Amino acid sequence: MTTDKPTSERTTGGCLCGSVRYSFGGAPLLTAICHCRNCQRQSGSAFGIVAAVAEADFDLQGETRTFHDSSDSGRTVARVFCPACGSPILSTIEPMPGIMLIKAGTLDDPRGLHPAIEVYCDRALPFLPALAGTERHAGSNI
Ligand SMILES: [Zn+2]
Ligand SMILES: [Zn+2]
Repeated sequence: MTTDKPTSERTTGGCLCGSVRYSFGGAPLLTAICHCRNCQRQSGSAFGIVAAVAEADFDLQGETRTFHDSSDSGRTVARVFCPACGSPILSTIEPMPGIMLIKAGTLDDPRGLHPAIEVYCDRALPFLPALAGTERHAGSNI
């Protein structure tokens, strides 16, 4: 038995109000959790969770706006969001050209995500237990 999707089937997601929709082929290249303060602020939650996908196979529909943020290390982070409902959709960062970091809570079915790494663990909220099976970095490893 396999859980692999047919290659023709695309993974889909979108914002809370439905004006922004996206899809990509295959599985994410990597799923990561970011505990940095900016991800906490933008998500309004304890951490950001992103699924990395190739821009070449990523399709975005609907109007978005972009907030240009700078990371703790001074690199530019473009945070793309829905202007109608405010949902964060994805980020791109300077050191990873061609990679879209999708805010994975916006996937239509995020249950299959398997976070592989956690970054900025030095800012992780103290009530969070460590996740099993992740590679943990105090800061960012990229
Ligand atoms: Zn929206
Ligand atoms: Zn972050």
